[in-house]
Amino acid sequence: MANGKIGVTTENIFPVIKQFLYSDHEIFLRELVANAVDATQKMKALAQSGDFTGEAGELKVSIELDEAAKTLKIIDNGIGMTSEEVDKYINQIAFSSAGEFLEKYKDQIGSIIGHFGLGFYSAFMVAEKVTIETLSWKDGAKAVKWTCDGSPEYSMEECEKADRGTCVALYIDKDSEEYAVKSRIQELLTKYCKFMPVPVVFGKQTEWKDGKLEETDKDNVINNVEPIWTKTPSSLKEEDYMKFYKDLYPMEDDPMFYIHLNVDYPFSLTGILYFPKIKERMAIDKRKIQLYCNQMFVTDHVDNIVPDFLTLLHGVIDSPDIPLNVSRSYLQSDANVKKISSYITKKVADRLEDIFINQREQYEGKWDNIKLFIEYGMLSDEKFGERGMKFALLKNTDGKYFSIEDYKKAVEGEQTDKDKKVVILYATDVEKQYPFIEAAKNKGYDVLLMDCELDSHFVNLLEQKMEDTRFARVDSDSVDNLIPKADKVKPEMSEDDKKALSDLFKAVLPAGADYNVEADNLGEEAAPVLITQNEFMRRWREMSAMGGGMNFYGEMPEAYNIIVNMENPVIKGIWEEKNPESEVLRQVTDLALLSNGMLKGKALADFISRSAKLLQK
Ligand code: ADP
Repeated sequence: MANGKIGVTTENIFPVIKQFLYSDHEIFLRELVANAVDATQKMKALAQSGDFTGEAGELKVSIELDEAAKTLKIIDNGIGMTSEEVDKYINQIAFSSAGEFLEKYKDQIGSIIGHFGLGFYSAFMVAEKVTIETLSWKDGAKAVKWTCDGSPEYSMEECEKADRGTCVALYIDKDSEEYAVKSRIQELLTKYCKFMPVPVVFGKQTEWKDGKLEETDKDNVINNVEPIWTKTPSSLKEEDYMKFYKDLYPMEDDPMFYIHLNVDYPFSLTGILYFPKIKERMAIDKRKIQLYCNQMFVTDHVDNIVPDFLTLLHGVIDSPDIPLNVSRSYLQSDANVKKISSYITKKVADRLEDIFINQREQYEGKWDNIKLFIEYGMLSDEKFGERGMKFALLKNTDGKYFSIEDYKKAVEGEQTDKDKKVVILYATDVEKQYPFIEAAKNKGYDVLLMDCELDSHFVNLLEQKMEDTRFARVDSDSVDNLIPKADKVKPEMSEDDKKALSDLFKAVLPAGADYNVEADNLGEEAAPVLITQNEFMRRWREMSAMGGGMNFYGEMPEAYNIIVNMENPVIKGIWEEKNPESEVLRQVTDLALLSNGMLKGKALADFISRSAKLLQK
């Protein structure tokens, strides 16, 4: 029997560990199972290389819990350790790295990502005493038992152990009794070990017999040792990807598309990402991508590893090249993480482009469900923004889809203005803007539907990226002025007349907004009065409402243009009369308000009774 003092400088390290790493106690189990898995994989490698010629047996890790005794054992039939190895790896390396770690990070421990490899000593976060019984694979090795009760003192002695491998036993301490409960251990194993590469067994499977839940003699294997992301894409079918999605998210609708990631140079990364069906746009759960390291679950906080817009995706990323033991702010500037992030962005764009080209119909069918994601990506990531110009779709008010390039080609014949700019018309609400949409269509124009919450930003982006093109909402001007074809002659009016016309209409317009009354010649047939809203003012207002930082516009009252069609016969009469009390003046103004959905409450009731009266005349 040998006794010794663990090689740490910090006196009595265990209370320190417990105190600092409080929030993440549960990861001890992941760390110990990962060590056990490593040991079995090393065994496999030795057998494969021929260094070990004996019987490796069926390699596995077992977890045994004794709820009454409050002991938890992690048992493997891996390579085991000789007493020299225990001394080296456990007494010296494991504990001294713990000491170094705490020394280095003691000032900023709170900000450190909670998911670094804590290693073997994390057992002391939940146990008052830990023993290791181990027998090395090496010929003539003797089994050894190591015991440590939470002080830096340990003891080591020879012991009886017939089978090769290691058993780590934890005597769960009073503050951590939750880890002596079967359901809690089951939960943790499912969370962290679900896809580990060696079978992890926790007790026996149970089944209902004569109204009772009884144990069978079959092992309860909690993991899938070969999750599909570890396989080659060519060996997988569509159903395999869909089934895996259901395994990960049993409650979710089927995903729209998937992407299989697989790269081993200049970094190693595999994984499968899914485009979820976005149902409620504002209630998107961002914590759906799981990060693994060699099939060991690490975290579902991937915020600084993938670009923000990609956190809307679901799925799994597995990479041993993502540094886990550093703070989050450091992660963002890590060169590997940057490479990984742009690799994923590129892969997502490649896949979308591929579906756009090769499965166009399917792509259009799913567009409404992925539009928000793609627009967000194009707005927030420059590279993706460039790529997206190829595969983003535009949908018109008739429900037809176009690529951006095709759309421009389709409308440029009719919709080029006198300055040779293509004017793309869009509506944000088909019901409310119906009269304007109809007027535009009657003129042979096409109108896009832009009804997504990001569209006002997206329209700005498209204007920057598309040459000689501008966007105008259909109700931002009279149909002639939306796409001016020739320099038009506006009615000539003296300043006094302009003021008189303005006063006349302002007298009957509802209070609470700013109006700019303007005379125009729109033809005899066109409506007497049109109410429009300046395209840019409205766009800035919408963007500032979404948090675009332009609050100045958000605080201003709504402003409208009142376009008075001087060629309309009814207006001619009103203008001759110049009577602010005129019922016809009220009527034409109300009609314009009505077609903009702006006539409400008492004003609407007055309009109806006035209309009835006018009909009787
Ligand atoms: P890490 O796993 O990061 O190297 P740990 O503190 O978890 O650090 O473990 C230290 C070392 O102890 C391991 O590298 C390994 O050599 C050895 N070890 C731990 N657990 C086992 C085990 N179950 N079987 C064999 N060796 C083990």
